[in-house]
Amino acid sequence: MRLPITPYNVRNFIHALKDMGVDAYLFDKGDVMTLSKLQKEVRQCMKCALAATRTNVVFGEGDVNAKLVFVGEAPGEDEDIQGRPFVGKAGKLLDQLIERVGLGRNDVYICNVLKCRPPGNRDPEEQERDICKKYLFAQLELIDPEIICTLGRHAYNTLLGVDERITRVRGVLTSYRGAQLLPTYHPSFLLRNQNKIKEAWEDMEKLKQLLRK
Ligand code: SF4
Repeated sequence: MRLPITPYNVRNFIHALKDMGVDAYLFDKGDVMTLSKLQKEVRQCMKCALAATRTNVVFGEGDVNAKLVFVGEAPGEDEDIQGRPFVGKAGKLLDQLIERVGLGRNDVYICNVLKCRPPGNRDPEEQERDICKKYLFAQLELIDPEIICTLGRHAYNTLLGVDERITRVRGVLTSYRGAQLLPTYHPSFLLRNQNKIKEAWEDMEKLKQLLRK
């Protein structure tokens, strides 16, 4: 349920962001931060070494009022070139997963933990995740989704501050700051492990049921 914006809610919002170390993103010259202002800031970010090798910052895209947000790991080559999340082969599979939920790409919001591509599509380094995750936290606070679907272990571990294997937690519903959180496999993993696709379809069915409630 979305709460009306009142001074009390704004205060809670400030405290929540401060807890997460993202108080810098709350105000911009006295105004409350918006997603588009945050996007402008992230586009200029030089806070980690990935700024030197990226072609484009990939902030995220979709419905800014989406009930459902998908969070992946980091941009790949196609995403880096186009500046959009999940546009390569993995993106096509994500589109199919979203269709299974009964939605289209424009009905949800899609973003990653890292906003810049790690060279050679290597795993995100801990330090990069630690710096960049504050943007993701602020992004999710601003979108305020009812449901978050994490794709792969990095998104899950970053949001929950844990170190789990995706095979252990996949499909197990949990929560993140008032939103329901369902972890599933990353589409790139599914492309390499097609025997797991049935489990991912099951997860999409679960999301469909959650959205109906
Ligand atoms: S990955 Fe994140 S922290 Fe690093 S430069 Fe890009 S936006 Fe900034």
